[in-house]
Amino acid sequence: MKLDAERLWSALGEVNRIGATPAGGAERLAWSDQELQARRWFAERAGRAGLDVSWDPAGNVWGFGGLEPGVVLGSHLDTVPDGGRFDGALGVVAALEVVGHARSEQLPGCERLAVVCFSDEEGVRFGLGMAGSRAVAGTLEPAEIEAARDSEGVLLTDLLEAHGFEPARVPEAGANLARMACYLELHVEQGIRLERLRAPLGVVTAIVGLSDYHIEVTGEANHAGTTALEDRRDALLPVAQVALAAREVMSSAPGVVATVGEAWVLNGAPNIVPGKAGCVLDVRAGGVAEIEAAAGAILEAGRAAAATAGCEFEARLTKCLPPAPMDEVVVGALVGAAAVLGVEAPKLDSRAGHDAMSLAPAGVPCGMLFVASQGGISHSPMERSSQRDCVLGAEVLGAAALSLAQRHGS
Ligand SMILES: [Zn+2]
Repeated sequence: MKLDAERLWSALGEVNRIGATPAGGAERLAWSDQELQARRWFAERAGRAGLDVSWDPAGNVWGFGGLEPGVVLGSHLDTVPDGGRFDGALGVVAALEVVGHARSEQLPGCERLAVVCFSDEEGVRFGLGMAGSRAVAGTLEPAEIEAARDSEGVLLTDLLEAHGFEPARVPEAGANLARMACYLELHVEQGIRLERLRAPLGVVTAIVGLSDYHIEVTGEANHAGTTALEDRRDALLPVAQVALAAREVMSSAPGVVATVGEAWVLNGAPNIVPGKAGCVLDVRAGGVAEIEAAAGAILEAGRAAAATAGCEFEARLTKCLPPAPMDEVVVGALVGAAAVLGVEAPKLDSRAGHDAMSLAPAGVPCGMLFVASQGGISHSPMERSSQRDCVLGAEVLGAAALSLAQRHGS
């Protein structure tokens, strides 16, 4: 598939004028006026491409081409605060360009191609994350919607109602699950692996799973000046050991990332030996067994340090998202399309969450194609990918989508 590079680039520029920031990025928080305007832009563009456009009760915007279930291409248009111009927007624009081109050229299989723009993927405003796709997958609980409010106290349910959506009907978005033959998403890598491999694109094999452990260490608070070494029960030391062990595990298990990004001393002060301390350990990998083995080793190191320091050590699993493997057939179509177009596209896992993470466990065959991120920077106004790589990505996405559509027949 050969796309009009300038057209794709100008469409990306057009949607990024909505919520453009002075630093050259974009800010379209979920359900803000800007993000809604961007979803309306998407609906208008999908209509212009000849698709049958509808908004579901969760605010996802769909465009179907006549044949169902559809080979659905899409992404999201919400951003993080002070975000970039590519995360989400690239996938949405590529979907529109691919389907628009396929339809105007009447390419075989074009009527089965469909587009979607999911609502609230980032989850930063209401703490939900992948809310739109989870509503489709049937895993967004009504209680989560009821409880969701932003940092200014604005209730999600109030916003939904203000824009003509009924909160109680959000789960009805699940009806769209059966309309998806498969789901393909073009997205920026948000990491530096492809750039280091000098590859413009990468085919995602799985979205890594994530386990968060809440760790609490109890020692004894005492005077920092008068407490001798042998009398100290310093609760911070095992926490420090957990952070060090996380780094250690990463050097011995290349597919695992482990981070202590949040740590605290309860009632801490410069003149007190820490009596209570804690942290959150975040472990990610492509397989459940790898996550469990890494977390087990790190927690064991923390426990051993606690025993040495005379402290009690408690770890609680607070978040557990299993890895989401991409579908073999869809992965094969993306790899095949890249080979036919002569584009380098090595396989890699996704270290960030995406809507495919909620759709794959619900039985939708999913595939993702990454475009190299310059300098690996993302969630920042500095987020960049080259026009050439973005266009190549859209062309490979389009060729793969058409081959999958043709498999389904007309
Ligand atoms: Zn994204």
